Amino acid sequence: MKKLKKYPVSLTKALVILMIISSVVVVMSLNSYLDRAVKNIFADMNEKLLKNDSELLAQRMRAYLNQPHAAGKLMSLLAKDQNSASSEVIEQQLQQLVSLDLTQGQPLSSISFASANGSYTALQRDPQDGKFYPMTSTVPTSQDVLKRLWFVHARETSQPFWTEHGHHASAEKGMAITWRQPIRDPQGNFVGVISAGILPADMSQWLHSLDSTHSHRLMLLNEKGRLIAASAPVSADEMTNASQHMPTSAQDGGILYPAIGHNLMLNRPITDEDGLLKWTLVMLTPDNQWQSSISRYHQHNFMGLSIIITLSLLVITFLMIRFSRPLVSLIDRVHLLGTPLWTTAARGTLFPEVASLANALDNKSRLIMDMLEARQDQIERDKETGLLTFAGLCNHPELYRGRNMIALLHLSNHSSLTNLLGKEYGESLLAHLQSLLKTLLPADTILCRERTDKILMIFPEIADSDQAALIQQQLETLFLSHQATSEGRHELLIAGNAGIVEEPLTSERLKALVLNAGIALHHARKEGNGVVTRFAPEMHELGLRNVELHEELSHALERNEFHLVMQPIVSLAAEGECLEGECLVRWNSPTLGFVPPDRFIALAEQTGLIIPLGYWIIETACGELADFIARGAPANFKLHINISPLQLQQDDFAQELLGCLQRYHLQGANICIELTEGVLLDDANSVLPQLNTLREAGVTVSLDDFGSGYSSLSYLHSLPFDQLKIDRQFVSDILEDRRSESVIASVLSLANSFKVPLVAEGIEDEETGEKLRNMGCLLAQGYHYGRPQPFKNWTVKLGVFKLTLI
Ligand code: C2E
Ligand code: CA
Ligand code: CA
Repeated sequence: MKKLKKYPVSLTKALVILMIISSVVVVMSLNSYLDRAVKNIFADMNEKLLKNDSELLAQRMRAYLNQPHAAGKLMSLLAKDQNSASSEVIEQQLQQLVSLDLTQGQPLSSISFASANGSYTALQRDPQDGKFYPMTSTVPTSQDVLKRLWFVHARETSQPFWTEHGHHASAEKGMAITWRQPIRDPQGNFVGVISAGILPADMSQWLHSLDSTHSHRLMLLNEKGRLIAASAPVSADEMTNASQHMPTSAQDGGILYPAIGHNLMLNRPITDEDGLLKWTLVMLTPDNQWQSSISRYHQHNFMGLSIIITLSLLVITFLMIRFSRPLVSLIDRVHLLGTPLWTTAARGTLFPEVASLANALDNKSRLIMDMLEARQDQIERDKETGLLTFAGLCNHPELYRGRNMIALLHLSNHSSLTNLLGKEYGESLLAHLQSLLKTLLPADTILCRERTDKILMIFPEIADSDQAALIQQQLETLFLSHQATSEGRHELLIAGNAGIVEEPLTSERLKALVLNAGIALHHARKEGNGVVTRFAPEMHELGLRNVELHEELSHALERNEFHLVMQPIVSLAAEGECLEGECLVRWNSPTLGFVPPDRFIALAEQTGLIIPLGYWIIETACGELADFIARGAPANFKLHINISPLQLQQDDFAQELLGCLQRYHLQGANICIELTEGVLLDDANSVLPQLNTLREAGVTVSLDDFGSGYSSLSYLHSLPFDQLKIDRQFVSDILEDRRSESVIASVLSLANSFKVPLVAEGIEDEETGEKLRNMGCLLAQGYHYGRPQPFKNWTVKLGVFKLTLI
């Protein structure tokens, strides 16, 4: 399944964050759009204003440049016959002329008359007082005048014209501009030239005065692009830039150009009345004159927008939280689905979508609850018997509250009989037990199936010890054989034990009590079938000792405290020749001393330690055997290894064993595994495939302790074995007990009929050995022939291992 990615923020938070981000983006882009739009509008306005300004300026400039014309024309009227007039008269007339305010406040710089004979009369304006005085110092002689180009030109033509020259008498800087008007009498005779001059400095000043706000700078360029006058100083670069953009006459309105720095430049053509001048008026104006107001406007705009958006965000967030609350509350409570705690939120405030989700969840919750109830029933009730399960009991403390005695019963033949005779047999055995319990025990006793073959009984409150003793007796009678009834061909015999605990039951103590009952049961089982034992605190001590043993045992393997010994199995027929031996494990604990395998093997089986220990035994045994053969033992020597049920249940057991044989270059036939028949009966399904694998590889199987367990001859044919090993208990009293002798005789004939050899173990004296040999038993093991000893203690030579029989 794909792993769900977890986001650290809630849905609402994520939406709010998204909204904030998108609002910021909107504000920013709106702002920049407005910024551009406003700038465009202002730029447009700017251009228009500039053009208007320039129009005004151009008009005034034209009027200014027309003054000399007007003066010239007036003078020509006055001076028609002036050729012969005295200079005083002309001077008077000139004075009259300048006294007329032709210049609209900006008088001419000079006015002069040169008669046809070269006499020259001139008035010059004093910049200090603005009045005109006759020019005295630099008056040219008539000879000079007659040679002047402008004079010669005027005499030859009747058209007025402008001259520009830097040597004007009063020009300080730049070029003086003079209007020359030739005058002729009615007969067309040349009378003289009237001149009206303007000084660049005066023009610059006038330009300066034109622009009252001083936001523009004005320049006048002549047709060659040279500077005539400027309202304020201009740099050389600005000059060059302006002269490169001279307009042609068609562009009357002027053209805008970008100028140096943050300036705009507007160039428009300027001419006089007669169209003789081809000048250009240049306006330099800062393009950012609106900038500060734009940005102020802009800031206000931005702040206003931000406030509005923030407020609306707050409102939206508030509304969203309000609207999403029912959904969030559903999400928060989803974990309660299927429990009685699940309740639906108030419906009135729900959106239809949320309401239908809530409905769907309601239905699901009911469904889950129903399913859980059904499942709960399955968990709490045992299907087979209809009794409570232990889980069911734990879930309902009200059932046992106030009671003070329990018993745990183990039906010891349940598992083997179920395996042998089938499930139905097991079931009817349980049903039979149930009905017996019902008749025997006080009514209202609670029965609970604690494990497959264990029944827990909880008795009604017990008043005194007599009552308790009575119940114990009743339980004992249960196991007596006369209770048996029959099921089909078989008898239903109740075999087992029970452990009793007397203590008030509480839900906290229930498990501990059942554990104690288990301990009591354990003790009862050790005493034999049908025993019922009451729990006593001392029983715990044994348990504690087991704990100590367990503690030591858990480290024993890694601390290398185990070693293996071997006990030979001799051939009674071949006089002590020995082709087999049993490998037995030994534990020398540094703290506990020598611990017999009978004590620690069972514990290792309970704790699972037997699995690693078992592998260690196999590995070591194979190593010892390989050495033993190398030392001179027969190459076909068969070493018996005891195998516990749990080991055999490991899926890789057979493979591990075969792998080990390979590593030590041993054959399958070098190993015989000793199993007790219980292993084969209890867990046949998982064990048989492993055994088959091993037997196919030549490994043999010996049924150990034969006769001590469930031994039912009827099923022997279905078990895989190659040898029987009769239990020590029958061998030890064969000489005294005739029953043992007959058991051995029948096991011998059984082995013969299965064509497998029989090993008798536990032979401690010669007589017993002799007796067994006489009975036909060919293989024997016991202290009489040899006690278990480390492999190295056994003498072998040239492929022969022989014991000297006494
Ligand atoms: P077992 O498989 O029946 O082993 C035979 C036991 O009888 C051994 O006891 C052996 O020392 C003892 N014995 C041999 N000859 C005589 C005799 O003449 N008289 C008497 N009284 N006893 C004799 P041990 O070594 O104490 O082992 C006890 C049990 O521990 C074994 O019974 C076996 O069930 C288990 N065991 C021992 N070693 C291993 C092992 O390596 N793996 C497993 N899974 N179990 C083992
Ligand atoms: Ca054995
Ligand atoms: Ca045995």
